[in-house]
Amino acid sequence: MSAKSPHSPPSGPPKKACVIGWPISHSRSPLIHGFWLEKYGVNGTYDKHALPPEALADWLQAMREGSYAGCNVTIPHKQQAFKWVDECDRQANRLGAVNTISVQNGKLIGANTDGYGYFSHLRETIPGWQPKPTTALIIGAGGAARAITGVLLDAGVSQITVLNRTGEKAQALAEQLGPPVISARFDSVQEHLKQASLVVNTTPLGMTGNPPLNLDLAALPDHAIVSDIVYAPLETGLLKAARARGLQTLDGLGMLLHQAVPGFETWFGRRPQVTDALRTLIVRDLEQNP
Ligand code: NAP
Repeated sequence: MSAKSPHSPPSGPPKKACVIGWPISHSRSPLIHGFWLEKYGVNGTYDKHALPPEALADWLQAMREGSYAGCNVTIPHKQQAFKWVDECDRQANRLGAVNTISVQNGKLIGANTDGYGYFSHLRETIPGWQPKPTTALIIGAGGAARAITGVLLDAGVSQITVLNRTGEKAQALAEQLGPPVISARFDSVQEHLKQASLVVNTTPLGMTGNPPLNLDLAALPDHAIVSDIVYAPLETGLLKAARARGLQTLDGLGMLLHQAVPGFETWFGRRPQVTDALRTLIVRDLEQNP
């Protein structure tokens, strides 16, 4: 019998993963994971399934007993899926939502990698960034705001102020996470910009088809970083205004790409890299299918 060449195709059945959501046609996850599967020559598949909410529980049960290594979970299933998994990582528990599931010994293990995605993108794009002394201003108090506030808190950011249209939600987030996370009135945003060294828009304002997020960035310190987690368009009005003012900016696409890394590694056994080639692929797709 001849020795197996290092260039032999991988043997055994392909490992399978997918993304579930409702609707799902907009998801870029198959493109991202498909890119990595090909780049690393992994014997695996990644597909997408449109799954109505009433089908979620049965689907997850079938996954527990079936051949999938795991899945990504997107809108509107993140909170419901949290209730159906067997175990969760710290971020998922904190958020009450999962975006990544892996099947391990017949158990569904849930994770939430949104905050990780934001933070990795921040560290990679602005290598000298330090959590102290950073005063972060989070605009919005939904799921993404919670995830990002959580990782900034864990990283040791000096102060985090959350502002939201519905003030009670910002207040609840600040109370859940505790100091140095505080909430403030939405109409005090201009006042808070004076001290902010990291601004994060976590609302859909600025997304194609939505009204813009209108902030007067003149008040921001010169060293401030402005980030948006909206990635369609890639450069939102907020980022454009920040760039025009000479401030450092961070777009939403990096978060989307980096949040996919832990899932791929868990399912397929290889830690993938977020590269310019991957970014270009998704930017082209966003241009062609906005
Ligand atoms: P969510 O839980 O529904 O929260 C939405 C937040 O935006 C809430 O705080 C909401 O305020 C606020 N908001 C919505 N419309 C608003 C408006 N017209 N004016 C002022 N505030 C408004 O949604 P999410 O999951 O956090 O996602 C938020 C955005 O981030 C979406 O655009 C999503 O596509 C994007 N996102 C991007 C990534 C990425 O990887 N780049 C990851 C996750 C999410 P109220 O509480 O007052 O309703």
